[in-house]
Amino acid sequence: MRMAKRKRITNGDESAPETEGAGPSTVNAEAPIQSLPKKRRTVAQGKKPASKPKGKAKGKLSKMLEMPYDVLCEITSQLRPEDLLALSRTSRGFREILLLKSNRFLWTTTFRDDPLFPHLPSDLNEPQFACLVFSNHCYYCLKVTPDNQVMWAFRTRCCGSCLRTQFGPFNDVLRGVRSTITSDILLSSSVLGPKKKLVSVYKHSEARDIDILLKSFKPDSPTLAEFLQNRRKQVSQLLAGNYYITAALERKIQLAKMDKEKERAKCKEQIYKRLRDLGYAEELAYIRESDCSFLDNYPSISSRTELTDRVWNNIQRTLVDLLEDTRAKRRRKQRKTLLKARQRLLGELIKDHPTNTPAGIKPGPADICAMPQIRQILVDTPVDVVVTAEHFQETIQGIEQLFAQWITNKSRELLKLLPNQPGAEDEVQDDADFSRLELATTYFTCTRCVDPLSYPRILLHNCLTELPHGFRNREDDDAIMFLNVGSVPWNYNQLPFEYRQDAESAAKKVVTAFGFDFRTTTHADMRPGNRWMECRACRNPKEGRMVFRWEKAILHEIFHDVQGRKSHWIPLSDEDIEAAKRQELKGFPKHRDESTGYCCAHCDERGSFVEIRAHSRWGHAIQEFKEADYFRHPDASMDHPPFFVHIPVPPPVTIDLTDDEAPEHEIINIDD
Ligand SMILES: [Zn+2]
Ligand SMILES: [Zn+2]
Ligand SMILES: [Zn+2]
Ligand SMILES: [Zn+2]
Repeated sequence: MRMAKRKRITNGDESAPETEGAGPSTVNAEAPIQSLPKKRRTVAQGKKPASKPKGKAKGKLSKMLEMPYDVLCEITSQLRPEDLLALSRTSRGFREILLLKSNRFLWTTTFRDDPLFPHLPSDLNEPQFACLVFSNHCYYCLKVTPDNQVMWAFRTRCCGSCLRTQFGPFNDVLRGVRSTITSDILLSSSVLGPKKKLVSVYKHSEARDIDILLKSFKPDSPTLAEFLQNRRKQVSQLLAGNYYITAALERKIQLAKMDKEKERAKCKEQIYKRLRDLGYAEELAYIRESDCSFLDNYPSISSRTELTDRVWNNIQRTLVDLLEDTRAKRRRKQRKTLLKARQRLLGELIKDHPTNTPAGIKPGPADICAMPQIRQILVDTPVDVVVTAEHFQETIQGIEQLFAQWITNKSRELLKLLPNQPGAEDEVQDDADFSRLELATTYFTCTRCVDPLSYPRILLHNCLTELPHGFRNREDDDAIMFLNVGSVPWNYNQLPFEYRQDAESAAKKVVTAFGFDFRTTTHADMRPGNRWMECRACRNPKEGRMVFRWEKAILHEIFHDVQGRKSHWIPLSDEDIEAAKRQELKGFPKHRDESTGYCCAHCDERGSFVEIRAHSRWGHAIQEFKEADYFRHPDASMDHPPFFVHIPVPPPVTIDLTDDEAPEHEIINIDD
């Protein structure tokens, strides 16, 4: 009885092949599908149509029908559900084979093997569900239209025009219906209506069928109540399970994305192959190594799904430029590594070979690398030759002479800057006398800093070996070598530096005030001993007497000169010197901590005292920082501690000039 009733409310399209689902027959929950076949057969062993297909499968596809059954199974097992559906529609032959109940396993396998495909709704078989999801034809007029929509509750697809004739809003479908029908006993579906708005629609034929059925019951009879109860249950079951179709449709979008991704990947591979064919295999690998996704995301590559000759012509130039650039970078990097290894070896060899040079001055690492004998070994030794200590042996033996020669050459350049230097206009002679450079009154200055630079400090001055900006873009060997050591040869940048006349004048005054002859006194002469002076002009009753060691006195003299104020130098007594030294010792630790100009004794690290102390702890694991672990860098500023100090003004000496004739006291204060 229930079966009969149920059949009545379908649209009665029983003539449609049950396998392809049914069309608008939505309520038949028991899809007549047989159980899986127990064993495989060949296509030919199947039904008649298998051996003699009636359809017009063309070309290669028709050959498929003649192949062994196992092979067909193997092929279909590789297909996605939508492809199997499409295959079943290519010809009558395929249709008959694939829709055979005994071949249902072909479908179940395909569905099962698709990880994205949702479970099958219990009231549909695989071809029905595939048809609902993947078809784009209307189940009513069979036309393929872009506007056809899935209506899940009705298990159907419907085009726009059939939607208007077959379905309608609740009130519309009740027109002409005489019995009382509530919306919970009718199926409904949300579809895009006019103006792309979601609307709920009901089916006219269903409303009519229900009307007929309801009229067959006696009002208030228990069978009517039972029918209504069953009907509500059935409707709610059919309305539920919408997620099957949602999942299937989402999968469709996801697959489309994956397909696009596959196309892109394929296209990328084609592009890379063409580039490899052009000889850029190493560069491609190099880019991958440093950033594996860089190329894949490169604008000219990432968006392509097809590589036509036109596309290739458009992108080729950009990509070749990129790879040429990479090639240059890679070569530079390789060159840098090679030269660095050779330079490091050289550095170790020099370190192990003690040298005596005038005033302990040595050329900087960049200067050493630029020396022709050394540069030749570093740069001109072929790439495939491993440079060893033997290559440098001869050079290292003569390194002391090389250093001395370097000092001579640079000193000659400095001599040319001295005023009234005989031969300054011409080349300075080989036997030039460098003693003028060593005078306590000889100072230079560079344009970067204001510090007066004495000799030989100027040969170590940091500003003159600093890497200039933009150096990193240079590709030549010299640039690479200098980058490797972080500096350039002395005055490589041709910074204008000049003789410092004001420092000379100041030094002359100070040296003279100290009682020396400025024409012969050298820096070395002035450095040792208890040489202290007071600038009497700067004595302050509150602060006291400003007392200076000789280098600070020069800075103070320059200060007076700038201010246009006269200094007044007077020597200190031994007692005052002791007071000055005590004062100096008091303030020294604080000043030292804040001053830059120190250097690690174990490596080339430079920095403030505090920085070098920290560096020696972390860099050399020195827990107790001692004097042997640091030194004042020879290029430390003249304005480096210890600084000038104040010592107290001596109390006035009182002389009593009283005598018998003069009743009043006259006091003369003597304070120096
Ligand atoms: Zn239609
Ligand atoms: Zn400087
Ligand atoms: Zn002064
Ligand atoms: Zn160090």
